[in-house]
Amino acid sequence: MNNLTITQAHKGFLEKKFSALELTKLFLNKIKKQDRKISAFITVTDDLALSQAKEVDKLISEGKKIPILAGVPVAVKDNILVEGIKATCSSKILGKYAAPYNATCIKKLKELGAVILGKTNLDEFAMGSSTEHSAFSPTKNPHDLTRVPGGSSGGSAAAVAADLCCYALGSDTGGSIRQPASFCGVVGLKPTYGAVSRYGLIAFASSLDQIGPITKTAEDAQIVFNAISGKDPKDSTSVESKISNFKFQISNLKIGIPKEYFIKGMDPEVEKIVKQAIEKIEKMGAKIEEISLPHTEYALPIYYIIMPSEASANLARYDGIKYGLSKSNKDLLSVYLKSRADGFGDEVKRRIMLGTYALSAGYYDAYYLKAQKVRTLIRHDFDKAFNKVDAIFTPTSPFTAFKLGEKIKDPLSMYLSDIFTASVNLVGLPAVSVPIGFKGKPASQQGGLPVGLQIIGKPFEENKILEISKIYAP
Ligand code: GLN
Repeated sequence: MNNLTITQAHKGFLEKKFSALELTKLFLNKIKKQDRKISAFITVTDDLALSQAKEVDKLISEGKKIPILAGVPVAVKDNILVEGIKATCSSKILGKYAAPYNATCIKKLKELGAVILGKTNLDEFAMGSSTEHSAFSPTKNPHDLTRVPGGSSGGSAAAVAADLCCYALGSDTGGSIRQPASFCGVVGLKPTYGAVSRYGLIAFASSLDQIGPITKTAEDAQIVFNAISGKDPKDSTSVESKISNFKFQISNLKIGIPKEYFIKGMDPEVEKIVKQAIEKIEKMGAKIEEISLPHTEYALPIYYIIMPSEASANLARYDGIKYGLSKSNKDLLSVYLKSRADGFGDEVKRRIMLGTYALSAGYYDAYYLKAQKVRTLIRHDFDKAFNKVDAIFTPTSPFTAFKLGEKIKDPLSMYLSDIFTASVNLVGLPAVSVPIGFKGKPASQQGGLPVGLQIIGKPFEENKILEISKIYAP
């Protein structure tokens, strides 16, 4: 029962090789033994998991047909609500907050019989690229415990990589599913904006946030995407979108390689491994074409204006009254000030200040409005590129997992982690990070540090980019 994918777990149930309860107990034990050194989980939901597993076993014993996700254990990022379970967002301000309802994606997974093992660690309010901004403890990369797993969905990616669950859910605002997936050597899909309901996802930057799967294979990512996507009356930005039985001929595929994504300063070994992955698909018959996304250099600066602007508005709700931590009882203003001062960590405060500044009278036009205009230019870049190509290949990150503590004191160098991922969120496109090899050791030998390839698709073409991903992570 080692390193099971969703399809393998399902097959195991049907062939009666093991029961959902046995598999669930195995993971819960593994979490107990191994998560002390990784810290992927904030909360482990033993009782919930065991009761869900028993229900699935009952269905199986009654000879009922079960959905593919039934009985398969999943880990959920701690900014996604699971009714009755703590949802801390890795923040002191929500340290004791329990979710009053299920996020839509959780409701859907529960209806399919998913077994929820627990809630995973993240950078506070999903702000960060290393999971070191967690108010609890940093998560470690299972490939090298002295290194970060990436972030902000570092707990989810580490849990999948360490085989502490079959798959996980993460959220991605500027790269938070793809970058940790790349650092941990697993598959991570950021769906098209609107493909998955954001109802029950604790809001960070609402025009950028999406929930998506972190899995061991591209096929598993398709299964989870299909399960959680679709229109939801509770999220007016959501639309109907499902993966159909899409097959393509590699010889008809045109892959665009944006020259702006192979920059000075990126790790030459990462560049080499990404280029080998491109050669691989070229040898299989795809046409490779150099393209240009000329406004790429502005993507990160405008992401760091739009994202904090939205965050500063979204986080205004934590006032010491409506939710979570409440400090001081002197007067109303002191409740606001003290609850927020004590409840938020430094990175969250930094972004609230940046965003408040960018939105303030006199600066709004110069920063926020200007950034929104540049966002449109970036969209046009992608529109033009997609007139010529079916998918775009880039590195997911310019470097592999860095050392714990290496960037934490230097916010700007931490922000550079998002250089290849943030534009996709600004434009709302789907993109996946798929493992393509290891820095330090050949891919066949396992070891070294994982490298990820980012495959970007046209809106709602998750099917195409995941089919292409199967070439690398079937
Ligand atoms: N690393 C990015 C940031 O710090 C992305 C965060 C995310 O996608 N949630 O904002």
